[in-house]
Amino acid sequence: MTEAAFGFKDVMFLSLKIAEVMFGVGLHIFQPLVIIFCFGLIAILSAFFGLGVVQPMDYMIFRVPWLVLTMFQAINISFNYVLCIVTGPGNPPFKEAIESGDVKINTDSTVKIKICKKCHRIKPERCHHCSLCKKCVYRMDHHCPWIATCVGHYNYPYFYKFLFHSWLGCGVAFVMAAPRMLGLWGLDRGGPAGVSYLTSLLALCGAIFLAVSFLLLWHTYLLCTNQTTLEFYDNKTDYHGLQANGHFTPNPYHLGWWKKNVEQAFGPGSFVQLLVKLIFPMRIRPAGDGIVWDKRTIMKAVQVKRT
Ligand SMILES: [Zn+2]
Ligand SMILES: [Zn+2]
Repeated sequence: MTEAAFGFKDVMFLSLKIAEVMFGVGLHIFQPLVIIFCFGLIAILSAFFGLGVVQPMDYMIFRVPWLVLTMFQAINISFNYVLCIVTGPGNPPFKEAIESGDVKINTDSTVKIKICKKCHRIKPERCHHCSLCKKCVYRMDHHCPWIATCVGHYNYPYFYKFLFHSWLGCGVAFVMAAPRMLGLWGLDRGGPAGVSYLTSLLALCGAIFLAVSFLLLWHTYLLCTNQTTLEFYDNKTDYHGLQANGHFTPNPYHLGWWKKNVEQAFGPGSFVQLLVKLIFPMRIRPAGDGIVWDKRTIMKAVQVKRT
């Protein structure tokens, strides 16, 4: 009776469980290695570009500003990378903590809060359950293997800044070092060894620059329209149905022109304050607590009658 009960379904279930455990163990070993690899890459590229192996000019007068600029960029990239990991995306509290009154949440009492069946945390709007982190994540964008956690509400500004400064650093390094590689303006290429250094560094920088360009462009669009990667696909699916019913946009978090949307991720501020937050390595607190969101009513498109 018992032997017969242990059938094909149980074998499949057991195999899936074993695969899940092995995947989890692999992930725990693999993810720290990825983080070490990223730090190594930042350090190597900064050292080569900043400390003289690849200098844009031969004149001493350019060397100090170049070194300062490279170090500033290396600190900026590392700062945002570390903050992205240690800050984390933010996770909602367990329902028991709210029921017992240990945790108080600031929400409208008329709104019924959903509870996640998988992790038993509350699940406010824009929150999603990550199967790799095994918990719900505020304003989840995606799970990022490069930081071994999710990108969500609290670490999104650091993630965006990390992309921006990696893109800027690699772009500037490429543009400044390429003339030396081409032997323009009588710049010394440092013999065959120098040429092979230059080739590998420029190839690496060019590849990172190109890959990050697409990602940065994509996240600039998402940032300026106040939507996450997950929401973008949902909105895209909803778009045709809503448009057919005469609605203007399926995204209720789109608060208007870009600035109000950017302020949701970078916190409130003037244009100059937002620019300072983007350029300098500093702590950033996004607007809101990840539970309650500013929304606009989904507007009906105005039908203009042509006469
Ligand atoms: Zn969950
Ligand atoms: Zn995750």
